[in-house]
This record gives sequence, structure tokens and C-alpha cells, in this order.
Amino acid sequence: MPAVYPVGLPSENVDDDAVKVVRRLRRYGYEAYLVGGGVRDLLIGRRPKDFDVATSARPSEVRRLFRNCRVIGRRFRLAHILFGGGKIIEVATFRRDPAQKFHATRCRTYPEGSRTDLPRPQRLAPVHSTSDEDDLLIRNDNVFGLPHEDAIRRDFTINGLFYDFHRSEVIDFVGGMQDLRQKTIRTIGDPDVRFREDPVRILRAIKFSARLDFGIAPDVYDAMVDFRGELGRAARPRLLEELYRLMRGGAAHRSIYLAWNIGVLAELLPEVASFLDDDAPGSDLTWKRLMAIDARHRRDALPSDAVLLTALLLGPLEEAIEGARDPSAAYEDFMEEVAFRLALPRRSKDRIRLLVTSQRRLRQGKVGALTRREFFADAATLHAIDTEAKGETPPDWALHPTVVEEKKRPRRRRRRRR
Ligand code: ATP
Ligand code: MG
Repeated sequence: MPAVYPVGLPSENVDDDAVKVVRRLRRYGYEAYLVGGGVRDLLIGRRPKDFDVATSARPSEVRRLFRNCRVIGRRFRLAHILFGGGKIIEVATFRRDPAQKFHATRCRTYPEGSRTDLPRPQRLAPVHSTSDEDDLLIRNDNVFGLPHEDAIRRDFTINGLFYDFHRSEVIDFVGGMQDLRQKTIRTIGDPDVRFREDPVRILRAIKFSARLDFGIAPDVYDAMVDFRGELGRAARPRLLEELYRLMRGGAAHRSIYLAWNIGVLAELLPEVASFLDDDAPGSDLTWKRLMAIDARHRRDALPSDAVLLTALLLGPLEEAIEGARDPSAAYEDFMEEVAFRLALPRRSKDRIRLLVTSQRRLRQGKVGALTRREFFADAATLHAIDTEAKGETPPDWALHPTVVEEKKRPRRRRRRRR
């Protein structure tokens, strides 16, 4: 049986619309809980970024209940309930890990329109098929399931909690409450298995540990070290997105430090890792740039993704360019590999080039014509981060960059010959 904890959540952080969605689903006889990061953040007194709801209702049933609903996703269908100000409450039907053979044979999925009662005894560790022991990578994540199955398919215990608004209770199938209290990141089930199933979870563990300032359980930490090589098997766009998330969460310095220590940075960005390993001149500046990014996050002035990534790459990139006979070719060599490994879109790659090449001029205070370029704000922000990292005060134009509208030249009209 799950552990049930009576807990009132601080109402100032709870989203009224999320509560409305849950209430309406319940009124129509479905089971519905607030789940995932929203519950975790509320329980530790943080304001959640987003609110996710898990329910026994199928996406089509959710759509029938909410006028402001859009069903998205082809492989796994999710309902998005839209509210004012661009707010979206994501409603997902309880799902299970398709590899859970044990559950596949023992448990029914919900027939359309039915509702369930509170979960029954369950096994914590997902049971996997052993026929293909080496290949655990999840490719199909689209099977409806029961609440406890939905909880145990999640990544970490602190992310596996359900909150029942109706009863003001936390339903804990995975031991998440204890780990929240002990500030510990722990996988649900065997960490070796869970990281091999989805290596991106290694980055997520780093993100949560750094952002929440939580420790990582020793066996989980060991598995992160052991299976960091599996990151190469993950979908590259997901790696890029998680790398951005590591840098956006207000703990860029701690995240990259942890990633470097665990050997994960050497998988994602070996050029940055070895630059830091060697304590190369300027490597301390890389760490300080990350601190400057975190300071901006605290001031609610988080830079764009392009600036974040360039700030991380700048040290080794400038080192590669400086000594080179052909700086442009050196730049291309460096970036080509980075772009491939992280599936960096062409436009991000171009942007990074502009940001890097403009730094020299900005350092000399040659702002001039750059203010008319569309990338000026990003270039100036990177310059500000760089200056702050050096312990200096950035110039005003870098702190409050404004792009001057380029005057459009009147188009010459061709005269038609009579
Ligand atoms: P954040 O505050 O960064 O949004 P989050 O925990 O809400 O953190 P999301 O990426 O929004 O993270 O995912 C929502 C929930 O989905 C998680 O809390 C977790 O329960 C589950 N989840 C997300 N990614 C995975 C994954 N790779 N494997 C298993 N479960 C996952
Ligand atoms: Mg979230």
C-alpha cells in the first residue's frame, strides 16, 4: 500500500487553475492528482514552474470535459488545458512502463470511462524483460496504466509523489517523502537499470541535485559515473535541451561542476571538460561566467540559450582560435563537433559564431555599428557576463543593451520600359 501523508499545501503557491482541473475530473468520476515536479516543489516551499495532472481519464475524455482543451502528441497523447496568460495545465492519463512485464500480465488498464480506487500493493522496482538484457533503452512509452504504475515509471522518488487536493494528502508509492525530507536524489528502482533505460536521467539527476541543493544517493551517484557513456545513445536534441536546463535553473555553476566531476561533461562537451581539467589559463573565468549567469537568474534576467551555451564554450573556443594559423577554420573544426554531438540547429551555430566574433570588438568598447545588428542584445549580455566574471563592472550599454532599428533603405524601383 502506498504511504499517505496528510499535508496541506501553501495556498499562495498552488495554482487555482490546476485545482479546478483536478476538481472537475473528480466530479466526473475520474481519479486525478497533481503529480511530478509541481508536488515536489510545493512540498519544499518553491513555486513550481508548471503543474502536471495525472488522471484515469483518457485524452478524449479529458477533451470532452474541458472546452479550453487541446490534445497534443502523436505517440503519447496528452491533454493541454489552456488558461489566460498562456498558462497550460498538462493532463496525462496514467501510464506505465511498457517493459513492466509483471504489470502487463497482472494488471488491467482502465476500460474507457471507468474509474479506479486507491492503488493496491505494488513492487517498487520496475520489472524488465531479460530477453534483451543489453538494450534497455525505452523507445515506446505509450501504454496506459494504474496510478502506482504511473508513479514507478517516473525517474526519481522526489518526482513520483501524487497530491490529492480533495483529501489534502500526499500519496507516496515510491518513498519520495522520506527522500524529500532527507534532501536526497534517488532513482525509483535500480539506478543502473533506470539510467540505461534513459540516460538523459543522468542529466536530470544533476539538474535536481544542483538546483535543489540535494545530495545524490551513493548507489545512484556510482551508476551515473558507470553509465555516463550511455549518454551517447540518447536522442541528441534531448541532450541539448537538458544541457540548457542545467544552465537555466539558477544553479549553472553547481550543475556544470557536478557534470564535470561525474565525467558527464566529458561525454557532452569533451573540449570544455579537458579545458577545465587542465586548469588552462582562463578556466577559472569559465567558472566565474557560470556564477555570473546564476547571479542574473537571481535578478530575473536570465540570458538567452545562445548566450548560455556561448558562455560555457567561450574559454576553450578562444583558446582554439587564438593559437591557430587559420582562426576561422579552427572555429569551424571546434564547432562542427560540438554541433554534431548536441544536434545544434544551424541557426544556433550561426548565432554563437556572431557572439564569439563580436566579443573582441566589444571588449575594445567598439560598440558602434553593432548596435544595429539584431544579435546586439545577446552579444552585449555575453560581454556583461564576461566583464562580471573578471570582477569588473560592465558598461551601461552592456547592462541595458538596446538594438537600434536599422533604417530601411528605400527600395529602388525599376522603371518599366514603355
Ligand atoms: P522542472 O521543475 O524542471 O519542470 P519536473 O520534475 O517537473 O522539473 P519535467 O521535465 O517537467 O520535470 O517532467 C515532469 C515529470 O515527469 C517529472 O517530475 C517526472 O515525474 C516525470 N519525468 C520527466 N522526465 C522523465 C524521465 N526521463 N524519466 C522518467 N520520468 C520522467
Ligand atoms: Mg515540470
